[in-house]
Amino acid sequence: MLIDTYGRVATDLRVSLTDRCNLRCTYCMPEEGLQWLAKPDLLTDDEIVRLIRIAVTDLGIEEVRFTGGEPLLRPGLVGIVERVAALEPRPQMSLTTNGIGLERTATALRDAGLDRVNVSLDTLRPDVFQTLTRRKRHEDVLRGLEAARAAGLTPVKVNSVLMPGLNDDEAPDLLAWAVENDYELRFIEQMPLDAQHGWKREGMITAGDILASLRTRFTLTPEDEEARGSAPAERWLVDGGPQRVGVIASVTRPFCRACDRTRLTADGQVRTCLFATEETDLRAALRSDAGDEEIARIWKLAMWGKKAGSGLDDPSFLQPERPMSAIGG
Ligand code: SAM
Ligand code: SF4
Repeated sequence: MLIDTYGRVATDLRVSLTDRCNLRCTYCMPEEGLQWLAKPDLLTDDEIVRLIRIAVTDLGIEEVRFTGGEPLLRPGLVGIVERVAALEPRPQMSLTTNGIGLERTATALRDAGLDRVNVSLDTLRPDVFQTLTRRKRHEDVLRGLEAARAAGLTPVKVNSVLMPGLNDDEAPDLLAWAVENDYELRFIEQMPLDAQHGWKREGMITAGDILASLRTRFTLTPEDEEARGSAPAERWLVDGGPQRVGVIASVTRPFCRACDRTRLTADGQVRTCLFATEETDLRAALRSDAGDEEIARIWKLAMWGKKAGSGLDDPSFLQPERPMSAIGG
């Protein structure tokens, strides 16, 4: 098992498949993009599948989430999903994507064994989408969402980040739209993980702001704590249910005590937390012909050193060197 000194057990693996992206969300990347990882530094499809196999068969991982960067840009994605679906025990598999290209790939991904998708969409207004992501692709995301629902990649979850002065007035509209379309909406508080270091605590839209705004139009009933388990989202029933809305309040209501995650970057580094400042190199082990047992041992040792919390509340907090897009959100 991947256990740490605080007794937490990691059963959820987030795998970043690429650091590249076709959007430039202002809270994530600068307009000009970033210095992408060089191809030889990226794990190959075989290396990724091997690490996931070790995680699933030797380390107790039950759920695998593919992310990035934009994971749909990874050419071998469908093949990777297919191979992971054939593992014993078969993990639950989901994908976090900006939705561009999902219209074309949703059915193939479902047929390969993908269970669910999370699609990121921050606004219902095409002009605001363009300002937020610096690309004119709003329509593609909406079509991607519909294709995911039609393919049965359900429940389709939608992730929204609210930015002051841009889309912070949209929470109730986004929820009304999600309820109507049978998407499960989750708001994510903006975190200090952008490459440009533009995050400011003052003025950020908090969980409290989001809930107050939603309550102007909806009745929200908290789901009980037990149902939440180790999920990062706190959830509420909307107008008595069955639809729900979630808020991931990493900054103002951290949930580190129940964290069950371990992360693998596209260049094969284990991270114990989004906010970790240290990484453990599994790629070097893979490429020096280490056996499965040795790789599992290195991974376990890395997780044993997981810190108690993100450190966001500590005045000496330092933003990790890697931005969100290179860690895998
Ligand atoms: N490109 C894919 C996407 O956008 O869904 C996957 C990677 S993205 C880094 C994963 C999630 O992180 C997205 O929902 C995105 O909105 C969120 N995200 C990115 N930067 C963030 C930040 N600084 N604070 C909070 N969430 C962020
Ligand atoms: Fe790309 Fe996702 Fe970052 Fe937006 S949040 S720039 S879609 S990686």
